[in-house]
Amino acid sequence: MDLSHFVSSVTPSATLEFNKKALDLAKSGENVVKFTAGEPDFPTPRPIVDAAIKALNEGKTKYTNASGIDELRKAITVKLQKDNSLSYSPEEIVVSNGGKQAIYNVLKALLNVGDEVVIISPAWVSYEAQILLCGGVPVVVPARAEKGFVPEIPEIEKAVTDRTRAIIINSPNNPTGAIYPKEFLRDLGNLCVERELFVISDEVYEKLVFDAPHFSIASIEGMKERAAVINAFSKTYAMTGWRVGYSATSMKVARAISKIQSHLSSNVNTMAQYAAVKAFEVDTSSMVEEFRKRRDYVVSRLSQIGLKFSKPAGAFYVFIDIRSFLGGRFKNSNDFAIGLLEEQKVGMVPGSAFSYEGFIRMSFSSSTEELREGLDRFDRFLKTL
Ligand code: GLU
Repeated sequence: MDLSHFVSSVTPSATLEFNKKALDLAKSGENVVKFTAGEPDFPTPRPIVDAAIKALNEGKTKYTNASGIDELRKAITVKLQKDNSLSYSPEEIVVSNGGKQAIYNVLKALLNVGDEVVIISPAWVSYEAQILLCGGVPVVVPARAEKGFVPEIPEIEKAVTDRTRAIIINSPNNPTGAIYPKEFLRDLGNLCVERELFVISDEVYEKLVFDAPHFSIASIEGMKERAAVINAFSKTYAMTGWRVGYSATSMKVARAISKIQSHLSSNVNTMAQYAAVKAFEVDTSSMVEEFRKRRDYVVSRLSQIGLKFSKPAGAFYVFIDIRSFLGGRFKNSNDFAIGLLEEQKVGMVPGSAFSYEGFIRMSFSSSTEELREGLDRFDRFLKTL
């Protein structure tokens, strides 16, 4: 039996696959250090967990509005106003199963078969797959390592054609940790207005910023109508398993998204939504400070080892240049990542997963002890090459 072209054109999520490989190895009894999936090692803060338990005890276990409970949509609009100077009404917010579903909903609402979507590589694994699943055509514009992985407007401009419908940006960036400067976002906003492009702005790492503030492209004059702001609770509040994210868009797009979600998944599970409302009251600054310490530690260790990388200004990833180690035992970043896992039991994700060969992504969302041990092993591994 043949499967659809759409599904045949994609591979499973490589971040999750490499994470699973590392987990399977650990289950088999190996002492594995896992720098694969970007997942805070902190527990979900107690007040959030308690809010979910309270919701359960109060019998809040039934369907809600498919687009989310009023309290949560309202709380999200307050957050967007306070943190990002963005004015949305609750009806323009759709609560989804993580940022992942929020992005898919937007693509599904926008794309006809053959429409092009510009993505910047290195690009998070699921952008390309989701575009393909919607029948769209991903157009990859590489950002250069020498430019700190901030893309260049003329390069983006060159990639825009009559079929281009949208561009996806992600700042702070997964996998590079780059934060796009305000000037770049302003120029990109101008380009989008000029060429009538829609921007999907994935801002899930917004709160994990170390060296520069976050700025939302949607706050630029004229951009709200042509932007979808994507955010989630996973990274900021250590809520990866709760699966709560959202999109903020114009009313027209929000209505389309609500329609799609009402047929696909209905509402995000009810108690998780109540927990998310509580999350806005939780101060996460100590977690951010801890990530900053880990970032500094990783940066200093990688420099001591003599590796090339761009210092992450945000998120919890560092994208390491391994080009000088390829060509011998390991032909490409995938082989390298498998070698590192098999020989030293250290899990990282190959750059190829992010459409960027010659690099490897290390997540530093693990504890300092794990970072120390994993980097010792990584150093040993490199010495064998
Ligand atoms: N977004 C995280 C990562 O890039 C979690 C895994 C995934 O959904 O891709 O590692």
